[in-house]
Amino acid sequence: MEMNQRPQTIPRVLIFPMPAQGHVSPMLKLAELLAMSGLHVTFLNSDHIHNRLIKYTDMETRFSKYPEFLFRTIWDGLEEDHPRTGESVWDIIFSMNEKTKPVLREMLVSGQLGSGATPYVTYMITDGLFGGFTLDVAEELGIPCVHFRTTSSCCFWSYFFFPLLAQTLINYLHRNEDMDRLVTSVPGMESFLRFRDLPSMCRVSDTTNKSFQMISQVTNQTRRARALILNTFDDLEGSFVNRLIEFCPNIYTIGPLHAHLNHRQAQNSKTSTYPSSNNLYDIDRSCLTWLDSQPPNSVIYVSFGSIVVMTKSELIELWYGLVNSKQRFLWVMRPDMLMAEDGDRSVPAELEDATRERGFIVSYAPQEQVLAHSAVGGFLTHSGWNSTLESIVAGVPMICWPYFADQQINSRFVSEVWKLGLDMKDVSDRKVVEMMVNDLMVERREEFVKSTAEMARLAKMCVNEGGSSYCNLEKLVEDMRCGTK
Ligand code: UDP
Repeated sequence: MEMNQRPQTIPRVLIFPMPAQGHVSPMLKLAELLAMSGLHVTFLNSDHIHNRLIKYTDMETRFSKYPEFLFRTIWDGLEEDHPRTGESVWDIIFSMNEKTKPVLREMLVSGQLGSGATPYVTYMITDGLFGGFTLDVAEELGIPCVHFRTTSSCCFWSYFFFPLLAQTLINYLHRNEDMDRLVTSVPGMESFLRFRDLPSMCRVSDTTNKSFQMISQVTNQTRRARALILNTFDDLEGSFVNRLIEFCPNIYTIGPLHAHLNHRQAQNSKTSTYPSSNNLYDIDRSCLTWLDSQPPNSVIYVSFGSIVVMTKSELIELWYGLVNSKQRFLWVMRPDMLMAEDGDRSVPAELEDATRERGFIVSYAPQEQVLAHSAVGGFLTHSGWNSTLESIVAGVPMICWPYFADQQINSRFVSEVWKLGLDMKDVSDRKVVEMMVNDLMVERREEFVKSTAEMARLAKMCVNEGGSSYCNLEKLVEDMRCGTK
């Protein structure tokens, strides 16, 4: 069935992210970039995330300047109080893959996703984690559909080798061998990728495990998509983007999207602008005032994104490590960061005293602004892809403490390939934390400052006029207008 009976001169693009902070945020930035280019955009979000964006951001005002920008919502299939942090995020993907297809089809057919001027969706950009169901609907209705992957290209490349890895993993993990042994089945990474650097879905004793299987399946589906959009840039990941062409011949690398959007907004307004925030938590800006009173490059910013949960003992080890390093720190402790069974929040008084002296704790920070602040000299991060890109653009070296999914591989690339920091992988020991913080902030500072400054320069150049990401975005818009790609 072909849906578009009436020709539309302006494309209406549907953008449909997996409803989680790290997916909604970059895809909303892309949506805004497309709206700035004059396309009509419909952003389809889960009710749960949409309501949080309305509550915690100025999103409604921000997008009111694009009269043809529509927000629409869809149920993620989970009860409102279902946990959506930690390993529970997988539930969202399973639930949507199971239940959303008929609802999406109905919304498209009935014109609920269009406006009077552009009633029908003529192009779809959907989250690659949705695998085949958005592609099935698009194919049936004759709408070109492109997949957007919010992970790094290097990680996405490794996902294509999960079927090959399966047998090795079973043999290996059952024998509980050395996690530092090199993995040989991911081309291009043979010399540095260890078992402990594989995406967390590989840490299973049984590869019939749901998340391992799901990643394999949805990755393979992307080969059916009209094209692939990646939030990365060629100077950082060009070699793996080139390899991905084997599976996905049409790739648009248009990142880092936050820098891209900031650049185009500044171009338009001719003044420096405030970064567009797409946060799902209440941001506490008091930390910016605190940073204003700290010496340059003296503070290590600590944040583990929107999903990581940890045990009380991990929290205490990290905390002692930071305090014992004697460096200043700004730490984001989300209210839902501690695992449920570790609900007791009492901490040793000596930690609280030291924190009052040279630390600051907030429940959520304006991260882009924090990283850009001259007082921040390092970032202890979970290596989520957005945080990694934000740190790269700000030229801030990282200590990586990955939690799950692509974070294990990102952290390996940060330390071994790009040389932008240190990988603390799998360790939560106060002595190691203390040593790494001192290495990053003092002992090896010079070495990291050099490499991070150079990568920041390249990241900014690629979103400037004539840069690779800038040109790729222009091409994407052009292809959507022509409906050719
Ligand atoms: N973030 C923020 N303030 C915080 C913590 C996180 O604004 O206190 C933002 C951060 O800037 C990034 C996103 O939340 O854009 C987290 O995405 P990422 O991919 O790094 O990790 P995830 O939350 O998906 O694990």
